[in-house]
Amino acid sequence: MIAIDLEVEKQEIIRRYRKLLRHAKPFLKDGDAKLIKKAFNTSNEAHKEMRRKSGEPYIYHPLAVAQICVDEIGLGTTSIIAALLHDVVEDTDMELEDIRREFGPKVARIIDGLTKISGVFEHGSSQQAENFRKMLLTLSEDVRVILIKLADRLHNMRTLDSMQRNSQLKIASETMYLYAPLAHRLGLYSMKSELEDLYLKFTEPQVYREIARNISSTKASRNRFIRQFISPIEDELKKIDLDFIIKGRPKSIYSIWNKMRKKNIPFEEVFDLFAIRIIINADIDQEKAACWQVYSVVTDYYKPNPDRLRDWISTPKANGYESLHSTVMSSTGQWVEVQIRTRRMDEIAEKGYAAHWKYKEQKVNNKEVGLEKWISRVREMLESNEAPAIEFVDDFRSNLFNEEVFAFTPKGDLKPMPNGATALDFAFEIHSEIGAHCLGAKVNQRLVPLNYVLKNGDQVEILTSDKQKPSEDWLRFVVSSKAKAKIKDCLKEEKKKAATDGKEIVERKLRQMKLPMNQEVVNQLRAFFETKTSLDFFYKVGKGLIDAKEIKRFKEFKQTAQQTQKPQISDAKSFEREMSKAKSQEPDFLLIGEDMNEVDYKFAKCCNPIPGDDVFGFVTVNEGIKIHRTSCPNSVELLSNYGYRVVKAKWTSQQEIAFLAGLKLDGTDRVGLINDITRIISDELHVNMQSISVETEGGVFEGAIKVYVNDTRHLEYLIRKLEKVKGIMKVFRFH
Ligand code: MN
Repeated sequence: MIAIDLEVEKQEIIRRYRKLLRHAKPFLKDGDAKLIKKAFNTSNEAHKEMRRKSGEPYIYHPLAVAQICVDEIGLGTTSIIAALLHDVVEDTDMELEDIRREFGPKVARIIDGLTKISGVFEHGSSQQAENFRKMLLTLSEDVRVILIKLADRLHNMRTLDSMQRNSQLKIASETMYLYAPLAHRLGLYSMKSELEDLYLKFTEPQVYREIARNISSTKASRNRFIRQFISPIEDELKKIDLDFIIKGRPKSIYSIWNKMRKKNIPFEEVFDLFAIRIIINADIDQEKAACWQVYSVVTDYYKPNPDRLRDWISTPKANGYESLHSTVMSSTGQWVEVQIRTRRMDEIAEKGYAAHWKYKEQKVNNKEVGLEKWISRVREMLESNEAPAIEFVDDFRSNLFNEEVFAFTPKGDLKPMPNGATALDFAFEIHSEIGAHCLGAKVNQRLVPLNYVLKNGDQVEILTSDKQKPSEDWLRFVVSSKAKAKIKDCLKEEKKKAATDGKEIVERKLRQMKLPMNQEVVNQLRAFFETKTSLDFFYKVGKGLIDAKEIKRFKEFKQTAQQTQKPQISDAKSFEREMSKAKSQEPDFLLIGEDMNEVDYKFAKCCNPIPGDDVFGFVTVNEGIKIHRTSCPNSVELLSNYGYRVVKAKWTSQQEIAFLAGLKLDGTDRVGLINDITRIISDELHVNMQSISVETEGGVFEGAIKVYVNDTRHLEYLIRKLEKVKGIMKVFRFH
């Protein structure tokens, strides 16, 4: 153990506190510093016996959160005080009443909001979704709650190293699932990219390190390129006497990784590794003209790509983002993204909402800006929505990232809609009754179907009929939360009716078979017919989708099943219980390859894990435990929403079993190519192949094969071998 020098620690605490004060100072009013000091002393005293998982004094955490609020979000005194005290009610003997008495109702309300949404990690899924919902509710009351929560989460992500692997995965996924989109929507771009980068760092550590290393090793040549690129622009801008700075910044590791993954290319082939940003100083009423002036200078030297011009100055994004983006061709033949904005716009882009607030009064014609509109829409949604919390959070989340498209009513009113919105979404946006009876639409005087996807500037007239009513089908193409919620409500009503009919039929059948109609039997029926809920089951019977005769089959099945029952595992807790009955050590681990007898598990089809992959177990409702890769496309949702069903899993060393893995091959076609591939797979490596499919078009070869391998090493060896085949350019694994 390391001896802790308390005196040194004390000085370090004071040093960090002074730094906070120093950075906040320019914004403080009379008496503010005194209040902050009081909050610091209160928090320091309350947390004095506590330490973080890393062993550091706990007070480092609230101090760091307050520092983030000041430096990275630009928040003021009230928020600093609330940040310093944010864990006090939750973790110490202090009560909300004490806070109210000492610091007033405003701070108390924020702390109350923060306390309510904490504890997210400890609870099960619906509880967690409920917490998110509460968090969003507080957002519409006081946005500072969310901002401080984001600062809290950012610091926890920065210090995630000292947590256990399981918690790391869970916290990181949750961050990716909700907090990063939220930061994005609030316009906190740098926070959003840092959260995403940290997510990657903990879920795909090797990938992360590799890209980071690549970025730094190419730094010198990149800087040389940037200097050359900006030099003529700099000269010209100096000539017209503009106050400006130019930055060339690499994109985030996460966004580079995303590009590599989407296009399946190596780091070297990602061309837009960085963006050039020109920040000018201009009076508020000269901003637009000045930015376009810079654009004109840039495009005098470099040819712009006409498809890649984005003017978010005339029409700012919904989160308040303003900037002029263009992609131009450099003299070396490389596309370069250039972002042009003023200092004010830049601050909004970096610090988001708070910075935006600060400048708000300066706006010339003060219209309600995108962000306020968005927040009032959130409030509306929360108040009207009665869907289960988890569904709600999912809907809400899918709306977070969307950019907007603008469409007009016949009278010329502008309606911002989420990207991908259809004519039907538009109908619901106007009024939920119009949506529910929507028959079709006329867009720019032309008749279009309900699922027509709106384009910017479309003028939309909705056609309705009294006879029309919502169908299940509609849910497949609407994108707005409002439309989804309303359609679901209508369907639920109808479903309830059918379910009541179905229930009567089932009751009658069971009576004939002399089975009781109780929770247990209904639940078994539901599982047998593979429906999600018992309501679904009744509904299907009521609608005739499940034939009443089939219920007989259930009885036969039930009789045979009773003899061969495996232990019931419904969540991580019962898993541990069963495992500790069966063996003594590490009962919370599922040892893949060994535990077949005790528990029932399968490999998830969505990601086909093989030994060597980083994996976890997920307790499903009907099908035992499923093993997923941590990089599975579904893992973010599973880990963040259903943490209580996640069990740790690892591979045992015995590997007699073969696992199915998919490989994609790209290359140029030639005679005998397929023959060469299959020869390597079966003759040289003695690997069993399950399937092979090949498409060739214009001499380009695209193949997909499924092979049985023992582990990731085995698979990588195979990939390397195949890559050497003449004509093959790329081999990679797919889910
Ligand atoms: Mn905290």
